[in-house]
Amino acid sequence: MTFKHKMTGMILAGGRGTRMGRVDKGLQPFRGGPLAAHVLQRLAPQVAQLAINANRNQAAYASIAVAANSDAPVWQDDLTGFEGPLAGLQTGLRRCETDWLLTAPCDSPFLPDDLGVRLAEALLRDDADLAVAVTMDADESGDAYRRVHPVFALMKKSVLPKLDAYLETGGRRMDGWYGAIKVTQVLFQEAGAFRNINTLADLKDMEKLAEPAASGFGRKASLSAGEAQRIIRDAITPVTAVEKVALRQALERVLATDVISPIDVPAHDNSAMDGYAFRGADLSADAPTTLRVAATVLAGRPSGVHIPTGECARIMTGGVMPDGLDTVLPQELAAAITPDSVTIAPGTIKTGANRRFKGEDLAIGKPALHQGKIVTPADLGLLASLGMAEVPVRRRLRVAFFSTGDELRSIGEALEPGCIYDSNRYTLYGMLTRLGCDVIDMGAVRDDRAALEEALRTACTSADAVITSGGVSAGAADYIKSIMTELGDVGFWNLDMRPGRPMAFGRIASEGRQSWLFGLPGNPVAAMVAFYFFVRPGLMKMMGTTASHFTVRARSAVTLRKKPGRTEYQRGIIYIAPNGEREVRITGSQGSGILRSMSEANCMVVLPHEQGDVAAGELVEVVMFEGLI
Ligand code: AMP
Ligand code: MG
Repeated sequence: MTFKHKMTGMILAGGRGTRMGRVDKGLQPFRGGPLAAHVLQRLAPQVAQLAINANRNQAAYASIAVAANSDAPVWQDDLTGFEGPLAGLQTGLRRCETDWLLTAPCDSPFLPDDLGVRLAEALLRDDADLAVAVTMDADESGDAYRRVHPVFALMKKSVLPKLDAYLETGGRRMDGWYGAIKVTQVLFQEAGAFRNINTLADLKDMEKLAEPAASGFGRKASLSAGEAQRIIRDAITPVTAVEKVALRQALERVLATDVISPIDVPAHDNSAMDGYAFRGADLSADAPTTLRVAATVLAGRPSGVHIPTGECARIMTGGVMPDGLDTVLPQELAAAITPDSVTIAPGTIKTGANRRFKGEDLAIGKPALHQGKIVTPADLGLLASLGMAEVPVRRRLRVAFFSTGDELRSIGEALEPGCIYDSNRYTLYGMLTRLGCDVIDMGAVRDDRAALEEALRTACTSADAVITSGGVSAGAADYIKSIMTELGDVGFWNLDMRPGRPMAFGRIASEGRQSWLFGLPGNPVAAMVAFYFFVRPGLMKMMGTTASHFTVRARSAVTLRKKPGRTEYQRGIIYIAPNGEREVRITGSQGSGILRSMSEANCMVVLPHEQGDVAAGELVEVVMFEGLI
């Protein structure tokens, strides 16, 4: 028998997470999603209605429900002050619209699939008020005992007055309340199913357990640049919305579908030269051949003429080849020309020369361009040659960004002692605009908890991706990390690279909207380098295309100091040396705050992870700032 229709499943996420350093347990990343999402997923098939009991981060929990396609409401305890699970039960019993309430903690991603049905059977059989899960466990001396899991319980709504009364007396303990009602225990074999997570160390251990590989973003503190790029690339998927834009507007946009050629280009066999079209078979191998000019074919007119054997047509470049003719003699190669004949010396031309075939550029029904391509000027021309007035492209990305730091002033504000003008918002504006994103500049935000949270939430609800700068290193006054953690699944990385060690990446959610998050370091050069090598590839994947850099190799003009074990991005100037070879030198001081090193550069020298010092004259890899097209 199924009891599903009688049950509301409530996830208990209302605790303070004291043992976890006060982080919100249910929001902790675990195998690619917040912990609570796993519980939601396991409970959903077992109950008629779902709910989440949470006393903070309600919006984040609401968005977990939305992401799981569930209409689970988020209920806050009626009792204020984090009064423990009984306060959650009270709230759940008051609000639920079914006869029974099934509860599970937000940190139990492995709860049994038959939790509800088995507790329900016992509840009916024993006519109890509450059924609770127990497992057999071993105590320190190895003796078996029944271990009660008090928050994995099914209770009747009718038990509410007794709970209210117990709470009135000041009671807060689960087992204390159990004394006042009729409880039945249900033995589950799978002890592991009730494993829950009380500390961050537990969480780490859980990640290592069997089942699918972990994919949260926060597992590993120290990453190589390549690993970080891979995590970003694997996590992000392209936006799906497609729009049709007029041909010219498609420049620099990402093609959303393959473009299948509706016609042959060219539409007919035609001449590549101004000259004389004839049959190659009419040429004599060892004597001059004279052909009578039977007709003249101009470009842009259907030919329709028939040229008899042994005769030819005067033809212009692009002129349609008359049927049966296969070769064009450029007029400047003729041995002799009269108004009605042309003479060709032996060996002047091969059969088939200067004839363009129908469809040789673009064949009807074949892909002319592939989806994911960024439309170049050449592509515009190609699409025009197909007669396409409109082009399907992916929608533009919306990217919101803001800077963080009390020391930052915006242009137009007075620069008090100790303050600096915010430059990152301008480099970001430039880089994002060039990438074709719609940008939302949210200004500079003080190192203030409420202001930062507000900014992140607003950014999250209005953009596909959010980029922040500053505050992701170990700085004490930087709250942004903890807020990011609360809003989603974010990893804080110490990258083995220079410049730009600290970086955050992940997903945040607010009011049911999700957004990708890139937290860049504050130092201006570090922020730019991190953008080019991590954010840009991520955004390009989101745009539906793949990132490429215009890379060349060049000789280093100087010795470069480099430690193995990190990737370095040095700013350089590439030029052609007097010996004709490409050479690169470094632009002055490479400090991560020295934006001039970037402004003067026309390229970046990328020294890979394992690389040690580079001697003058050695070849290095160079990423050009400007491409060709
Ligand atoms: P943080 O990553 O917040 O510790 O900042 C590192 C350094 O970068 C500090 O010297 C900041 O003053 C500087 N910085 C942070 N944000 C910006 C910005 N938007 N523009 C210019 N410099 C910044
Ligand atoms: Mg700062």
